[in-house]
Amino acid sequence: MEEGLLVVVSGPSGCGKGTICKELLRRNKDIIISISATTRKPRNGEVEGVNYFFIDKEQFDAMVQNDEFIEYANVHGNFYGTPKKFVLDKLKNGESILFEIDVQGAIQIKKMYPKAVLIFIAPPSMEELKNRIVGRGTESKSDIEKRYENAFKELEYIKEYEYMVINDEVMNAVEKIESIIMAEKCKTIRQ
Ligand code: 5GP
Repeated sequence: MEEGLLVVVSGPSGCGKGTICKELLRRNKDIIISISATTRKPRNGEVEGVNYFFIDKEQFDAMVQNDEFIEYANVHGNFYGTPKKFVLDKLKNGESILFEIDVQGAIQIKKMYPKAVLIFIAPPSMEELKNRIVGRGTESKSDIEKRYENAFKELEYIKEYEYMVINDEVMNAVEKIESIIMAEKCKTIRQ
């Protein structure tokens, strides 16, 4: 049986990783996404169990206590975690899993699964990034500032990632990620 690939995609808020992942999943039915739990409140249009499992801090703490997360982190003031059971079940079946998580989570996954492939999505420029965060209109002014400030810190972690894809155009970025996945699947030598 072919071994499943763990593909971790990270990037600063507004870099377009959500749109890229959506398109990647639409085109590649053999890839499944890990759905995270978060204490962040749902945005307009977000659906429970599709975008996230929306839980409160008490529930989140209980999941941490019960060792139910593969990784978790505080990102922009909210908690996010990857439920363990889903990932272990899918890996057992040899399925490929996509994780859309922050740099802290990516580093934790890489430690646990050295074969995981880490891909960083970078914006074409910081100016463009700010325009995108403001333009989507989902965050408060202070949240926009926080996410923009954090972007500079996140960019410092690019060196932890095997690949960087600049999101100048969504389809371009998706095709690059597909090529990376294809190449990784054909590799004879893995760490
Ligand atoms: P957002 O609030 O915009 O949906 O996500 C904020 C950040 O949290 C993004 O960088 C996203 O990739 C990250 N994130 C989402 N789920 C997880 C998770 O399970 N673990 C970690 N470490 N980060 C996550």
